[in-house]
Amino acid sequence: MSSSRRPVIAGNWKMHKTIAEAEQFIQGLLPRVTTADSVDVVICPPFTALGAMVDSTRGSRVEVYAQHVNDQPEGAFTGEISIAMLEELDVHGVIIGHSERRGLYAENDVSLAKKVAALIDSSLAPLLCVGETEAERDAGTMEARLREQVTTGLSEVPSDRIAEVTIAYEPIWAIGTGRVATADQAQEACAFIRALIAERDASAAEQIRILYGGSAKPENAAELVGLADCDGLLVGGASLDPASFAEMVVAAG
Ligand code: PEP
Repeated sequence: MSSSRRPVIAGNWKMHKTIAEAEQFIQGLLPRVTTADSVDVVICPPFTALGAMVDSTRGSRVEVYAQHVNDQPEGAFTGEISIAMLEELDVHGVIIGHSERRGLYAENDVSLAKKVAALIDSSLAPLLCVGETEAERDAGTMEARLREQVTTGLSEVPSDRIAEVTIAYEPIWAIGTGRVATADQAQEACAFIRALIAERDASAAEQIRILYGGSAKPENAAELVGLADCDGLLVGGASLDPASFAEMVVAAG
């Protein structure tokens, strides 16, 4: 982490927590993170709890992101949610291209690029997820895959707005498996992503925040956030418990 970039600890709740459970979580989290004011804290609840979480975190440092959005303003898209619907709730940002959405719902780099661009034109911040499969890493195609995901994902964003995107490097083999990337693997991939962005714009590469995600937990948070090119964490499982999530926030400070 460079001192010029504020660390971010973001919790992706996936399809977990009713509104009542989310309220209980936030009451447990807020008192634990009041002093960690050098860290940006993000929670990503399911759609149904977004409004309640925006209300319950108002006035605190916790930001609320959605886990998914459609790039179209409105229309016959059953089950989808638009940017305007999230803006109306005062949501701060959206996770785009999580590997579960890519894998289970066939989201691809081209459709994700449209979402990133639509978000840049809105009040919502995009958090774009990228990462290779184990087979791609073993086959030596990890860099090619990351290049494709990052360059296509950012292709519709003007160079002077790239730093407004946050990127999460999430090796798919490390997500929900308990198998965290080693510090060397995480640093190497985050540095590679930063170098890719430098090909577009050197100043954006210096400013953009790149997070690591994949079995991050309180025990490895400080080491990962201490890496030169890692500016924080996107956390799944360990973000569901307020005490363990708060420990990671404090470790990043
Ligand atoms: C994630 O799904 O973004 C993630 C990083 O999950 P976990 O921390 O559970 O591996």
